[in-house]
Amino acid sequence: ELTDKLGNVFAKLRGRGVLTENDIKEGMREVRRVLLEADVNFALTREFLERVEKQAVGVLQLKSIQPAQQLVKIVHDELTAMLGERREGLKMSSVPPTIIMMVGLQGSGKTTTAGKLARRLKLEAKSTRLVAADVYRPAAIDQLETLGKALDVPVYADRTTQDVVKIAKAGIEQGVRNRDRVVIVDTAGRLQIDADMMDELTRLKAAIKPDEILFVADGMTGQEAVKIAQGFNEALDITGVILTKLDGDARGGAALSIYGVLKKPIKYIGVGEKPDALEEFHPERMAGRILQMGDIVSLVEKAQEAFDETEAKKLEKKVRKDGMDLEDFLSAMRQMQKLGPFENLLKLLPGVNPKMLKDVKMDPKRMKHIEAIVLSMTPQERKKPDIINGSRRARIAKGCGRPVNEVNRLLDQFREMQKMMKKMGGGAGGKGGGMPRI
Ligand code: GDP
Ligand code: MG
Repeated sequence: ELTDKLGNVFAKLRGRGVLTENDIKEGMREVRRVLLEADVNFALTREFLERVEKQAVGVLQLKSIQPAQQLVKIVHDELTAMLGERREGLKMSSVPPTIIMMVGLQGSGKTTTAGKLARRLKLEAKSTRLVAADVYRPAAIDQLETLGKALDVPVYADRTTQDVVKIAKAGIEQGVRNRDRVVIVDTAGRLQIDADMMDELTRLKAAIKPDEILFVADGMTGQEAVKIAQGFNEALDITGVILTKLDGDARGGAALSIYGVLKKPIKYIGVGEKPDALEEFHPERMAGRILQMGDIVSLVEKAQEAFDETEAKKLEKKVRKDGMDLEDFLSAMRQMQKLGPFENLLKLLPGVNPKMLKDVKMDPKRMKHIEAIVLSMTPQERKKPDIINGSRRARIAKGCGRPVNEVNRLLDQFREMQKMMKKMGGGAGGKGGGMPRI
């Protein structure tokens, strides 16, 4: 998987104090291989590498401290730029209802995602209506109605006609009468792009003038998804992209390429079949995930939802005052363990390889290992992890019966977390009040 592989490249680089031109070349070669293997568009990969290399040379010339970290930052920033720069949410019309049209190939996840969006909007107190404009398979209307019932969202359907323009207009009129804030029109897809489908969607677009045309792409499709997206975009000038099925073994390359090629923002990602399995897409967080720096921002948000208030406050206060040490790290890990679903949180922790999660699910040994490692350190080492040199690492490893590389990894993760904490503590004033609801 893309995420794992890139993570390895940078884990290697990060371990270095000094970087040579050769290290960078080798690192870049590896990044290139990984991106291409993951199905990232070739031209994008080349542009990306050119930009990174140009800046990397600067890092070398300046003989900067922590060059590897700087390189990771450059790659992170460029990845973010490639993924869309900043988050873009749904465009809400000033005059309700906002009309959203779902488009995409058959099976890409339009109907499921329409339901997910309706659920999310409803939770934001925006009354939402679904419209069944996929009329060719009766089962499609049933599917949307079932979803609507389960979510308690009204569904407009008309089984007496196949005129989708008429259906969509009637559904929207019903939405206007009911003062709905949003109307989501589910449309029919085909197995591949064909003229009839595009003609129908073009007519529909002209008739209902949607505020959003969301192209839904199956994240498992890889590079092909970019071509399909291009086809839809040429005909419809889409306003955004939703990438589904990123919970599976998706290679992720499509996600990396669609924005780069179309310059249309990825707005959400689907991460499961259930109605709540829809996440906002944040380019910089995704870049962070790819680099295995861990999605600290999400982690903190999640933690804030569930953390024992006083414990968390105490920890926050101390961290703000004295910086974070390994005791705090351990106590944070212990807190998180209480939060469950453990593997979800773990996924967000720096350096945690998603592949490990299967094992974690079966057996929360890893937490025990982390505990064992920290407990094998002297109090001084826990307070000042910087003093933990090679021989100390060997001693700790022996003490807790874990391999040295596991000790190293823990220290790397801790350092990364410390860095992010520092950044957040300094910048935003710490108060994570603006946490997105659902
Ligand atoms: P449509 O033909 O575009 O309307 O696609 P559907 O909404 O009917 O979805 C097709 C299949 O993909 C269904 O079995 C969905 O449950 C599944 N699906 C949709 N989104 C996701 C997702 O994010 N993750 C997973 N695992 N399955 C999804
Ligand atoms: Mg459908």
